[in-house]
Amino acid sequence: MVDLLQIGSRSVALVALTLACSCAVESSEPDARRDVAAVVEALTTNCSPDQASFARAAAVAAGMALLGAGADIGGVEDGGDASRFDYWFGAHEPENIRVVTQVLLGSYEMIATAEFRCGCDDPDPNLIAQTITNDPNQLIRLCPPFFERDFTEFAVGGLIHELSHLNGTLHWKTGASCFPGDPHWPDYWHALTSNPYGATNNAESYRLYALDWQPGEASSRGAVCTD
Ligand SMILES: [Zn+2]
Repeated sequence: MVDLLQIGSRSVALVALTLACSCAVESSEPDARRDVAAVVEALTTNCSPDQASFARAAAVAAGMALLGAGADIGGVEDGGDASRFDYWFGAHEPENIRVVTQVLLGSYEMIATAEFRCGCDDPDPNLIAQTITNDPNQLIRLCPPFFERDFTEFAVGGLIHELSHLNGTLHWKTGASCFPGDPHWPDYWHALTSNPYGATNNAESYRLYALDWQPGEASSRGAVCTD
């Protein structure tokens, strides 16, 4: 299954992505930041120097966001506030926590081993990134819009989305074909928590959770369609 992460409002298996979160990377974790920076060095291929630099920065930020998500789960396991976890993944039951932790940890570790290749083999000009679910080569292709759109919304979030696919998540749809004009479309993914399997296997749930998207937060992109 080829996964297509795409801006746009058409076609199959597409999700228009817009994140406007203020997903602050924890600056209080210099060691973690350094470690992430070290592991993503030189893992880009077919990129210009500027593209490679951009992609590595996005990978570092994705790693920090995944660490932040991991810290949130740690707090949940210690009996702390579970509202963030519950919103995106349903009840913080042991099985949900186990699955989400596995995907987050696998995604984080894969930053060190995945290949981030500049260029896509799809002619669609709106494609952000693509991978193949469970791709043994852990290849993530970075399409032109990856470098041209909002860094956090599309580059960082896009990597988290694709990394989760490489750890077994699916490209779920919400059932609604379009959310035209609704800037709060990210909240529609919250509805998947009524289906715990759907929530914990949905790439978008991981992207929004890791970026600490706030419930009710408006997207700067007002309309989104999925199919
Ligand atoms: Zn996807």
